[in-house]
Amino acid sequence: MPLYLTYYFWLLLVSAVMFTLERLFPWRREQEILRPGFVQDLFWMVFNIQYVSWMLAVLAVHVITWFDAAVFSLGIPALESLQMIANWPAWAQFAVVFVVKDFLEWNVHHLLHRVPLLWRLHQLHHSTEELDWVAAFRGHWGEIIIYKVVIYLPLVVLGVDGSVIFAIIAVSLVIQELSHANLRWDLGPLRYIISSPRYHAWHHDVALHGKAGQNYGVNLVIWDWIFRTAYWPRDVEGPERYGLSPSDRFPTGIWARLWWPFLPRPRTDLAGKLRVQAEKSADRVVAGS
Ligand SMILES: [Zn+2]
Ligand SMILES: [Zn+2]
Repeated sequence: MPLYLTYYFWLLLVSAVMFTLERLFPWRREQEILRPGFVQDLFWMVFNIQYVSWMLAVLAVHVITWFDAAVFSLGIPALESLQMIANWPAWAQFAVVFVVKDFLEWNVHHLLHRVPLLWRLHQLHHSTEELDWVAAFRGHWGEIIIYKVVIYLPLVVLGVDGSVIFAIIAVSLVIQELSHANLRWDLGPLRYIISSPRYHAWHHDVALHGKAGQNYGVNLVIWDWIFRTAYWPRDVEGPERYGLSPSDRFPTGIWARLWWPFLPRPRTDLAGKLRVQAEKSADRVVAGS
């Protein structure tokens, strides 16, 4: 297989380009190369790409084989046989799948912020207090499973060519690293279509500007403008602080972070919740009196 058709070739190339651009045109000049969490983010990069995605691929083959056999025994055609766009030219497959996949990802990302249990999976991505190209890879294996499961079925039903999927993965890699990079770029005329460092920075703002945050767009940001979840003040250059709210308790070690979403809620969380409820009912009593 030629080198340019391997994921690791693009990973190394794109990362090297982003690293160089960040040195040449840094947005936050005071940010150091070895910022807090940089080494841990390299771990998430290797772990998520090398192990989580690999295990999911192996698992998917077994699940599909089992599913096809079950469906065949019922006399129903297998989903793969639908091949809805398999005869389309590659560029048309790319356009359709890129948009469909991105819209599904926007919905998943929105839910990761709005559903408390899912937010616990997504907290890891938002725990970084400084943004750069490698922060893009900080993500919990639980949310990777959700994204892949949601995206997998349409890919199978549509019958997309493998080379098209590879091209989409490579383009997404560029946009993901770029939108987390320490660059003061907004992509000019494309700023309302494709995610950029200036746009995604507001997604990592400590302050929430919507009910559960803002700017959920993964690669395309048009969904945020259509569904009114975009926040991009033109008179402020960027957020003051990135990361989780000070009231969000979150561990710092890798092992604890791997299992944190599934651990019982700390007692302080429960105590805080009870206190808020007690204050609310006290307010109601005062208001009613
Ligand atoms: Zn998010
Ligand atoms: Zn992000």
